[in-house]
Order: sequence, then structure tokens, then C-alpha cells
Amino acid sequence: MKIAILSRNPKLYSTRRLVEAGTQRGHEVQVLDPLRCYMNITSLKPSIHYKGNELTGFDAVIPRIGASVTFYGTAVLRQFEMMGVYPVNESVAITRSRDKLRSLQLLARKGIGLPVTSFAHSPDDVDDLIKEVGGAPLVIKLLEGTQGIGVVLAETQKAAESVIEAFMGLKANILAQEFIKEAGGADIRCFVVDGKVVAAMQRQGREGEFRSNLHRGGTASLIKITPEERSTAARAAGIMGLNVAGVDILRSNHGPVVMEVNSSPGLGGIENATQKDIAGQIIAFIETNAKPHRTRTRGKG
Ligand code: ADP
Ligand code: MG
Repeated sequence: MKIAILSRNPKLYSTRRLVEAGTQRGHEVQVLDPLRCYMNITSLKPSIHYKGNELTGFDAVIPRIGASVTFYGTAVLRQFEMMGVYPVNESVAITRSRDKLRSLQLLARKGIGLPVTSFAHSPDDVDDLIKEVGGAPLVIKLLEGTQGIGVVLAETQKAAESVIEAFMGLKANILAQEFIKEAGGADIRCFVVDGKVVAAMQRQGREGEFRSNLHRGGTASLIKITPEERSTAARAAGIMGLNVAGVDILRSNHGPVVMEVNSSPGLGGIENATQKDIAGQIIAFIETNAKPHRTRTRGKG
């Protein structure tokens, strides 16, 4: 098969591993910078051009679209979908997962366990917003943050008020969330491929840090997850419409709660922690599923 990887950086571990796994399994793999793709949007013959050449003959596309290029990256992916190229994750599912509020609302609707979360627009409602999640300490998050940037722990009511007011003053969209203290600065990353958890790791934040993101200095280790955690992660990925996803779970007093579902989960941390060939599993997924025009959202925006 001919497989495109939409990635800004061919040197990234995840991109390199996908190229390697695809090539090893006998496929032709090409890394394309989404920001260098340009498109002709016609109904008769939608096309994509790349550095002067028209892209043709692709069977599947693996989107690895960074949060900073979501808008253009998903537009390029949508164009691949219009051309009938099979996307590992569909553009609408990626857009959905990038908005934390929208994701949590979708998950809540299907009864997935979540940290108590509230959302407001007006500074006049800040007091109630904080009360809704049980008061301080609480977590405040930018709706479109990643890698732990934009996630703040407010230890007191006063700190929470100032942080929320500051974000609101900057016109940033935020949510407030119950702080799951009992998680002890650790969370569980479940890697889901095709509706199944294929690997899981625990991430522990550095000393004195409640955010466990590896980008923030967290460390990964092996963990055995419970059947409830396994099914929660698999269901969460399914609800978001993602075939490949990193589902982040906290162990709370009220059971596993999902914090977020990532549509371009990194392969480095999880492959190193588990010694599993996750890239190979993603390519295997493509081999079984990639058929022309097999996007469920074709024609729907
Ligand atoms: P990002 O998209 O930036 O990774 P997350 O919502 O995943 O944002 O939060 C980053 C990290 O902060 C999580 O991995 C977790 O360790 C910690 N965290 C986030 N929300 C909570 C919470 N409600 N209670 C306890 N820890 C949290
Ligand atoms: Mg996260």
C-alpha cells in the first residue's frame, strides 16, 4: 500500500517509527508536511499538491497533526478524505478531540466517568463556577491546551478566582475541574487501536508537580490496568470516533475518570515503557481497514 503520514517533522520519534513499521511491512510510506500541502477543492476531481507535484495513488493517511496546526492540518486531511484516501483518524474526530469541553460533553452523554467539571463565560459567575466543582483546591484548564501547558492547580479560593479572572481577561476559554488529589500526580495513558487497549503506562509527575505529562518531566512505568479502566478507555476512544487514541485516566475515589482523549498520541513514551511495537499495530490496522472511500464522515463536514 501507499501510505502518507501527515507530520511537520520527519525526525520525531513517532513519525520515524511509523515510517519504519510501514516500510518493514512492505509498504511505500511518505511523510508530508501538512502546511506544504495545497488543495484544489472541486467536486469532480478534488486534488492535493505538494511542493509542485500532485499527490496520487495513496491508500491511507496517518494524521499526526500538532495542536498548533489543527485548523490547516484537518483541512488537508478532509481533502484526503474527499479523494477517498482512508484516514486512520477522521478529521471530524480530531477536531472534536482538540476541544476539551466538547469532548467531555460527548463522554458525559454516554456515561463515562469524568472529574466534576464546570464551565462559564462571565466573570460574574466565577464564584458559582468554583462552587460547582467543590471549591479549592481545583484545576483550571485552557480548553485547547496540550502537553500540560495551560493546566493550573489553584490551591485556594483566592488563587482560583485570580487565575480564572486573568484567563477570562485574556479572552481564553477555560474550564474548572475537581482536583483528583488521590491520584497523587500520576495518571494512566491507555493506548487504543481499533477499539482495544493495546498498551498502558503510568505517568508520574516530577516531585512537587501534579501534572504527569512526559513533556513536563513526568516518568513512565508499566502498569496493570483493571477491566473497568480498560473498558472505559476503549469506550471513550469509540465515543470520540478515534481508531487510534491515547486516553488519559485518573484513579479517583469514584472510580476511573477520563481527563482527555488524544488523537495524535506520542509513540515514544509508550513503546519504551512497554517494549511493544505500537507503530506496527497501527500499520496492521491500516492493512485490514483501508479501503477507498471508507470514511464514515464523507460529505458531512
Ligand atoms: P493536557 O492536554 O495539557 O495534557 P490534561 O487535561 O491532560 O491537559 O492535564 C495535564 C495533566 O495534569 C494530566 O496528565 C494530569 O496528570 C494532571 N491533571 C489534569 N487534570 C487533573 C485533575 N482534575 N485532577 C488531578 N490531576 C489532573
Ligand atoms: Mg493530557
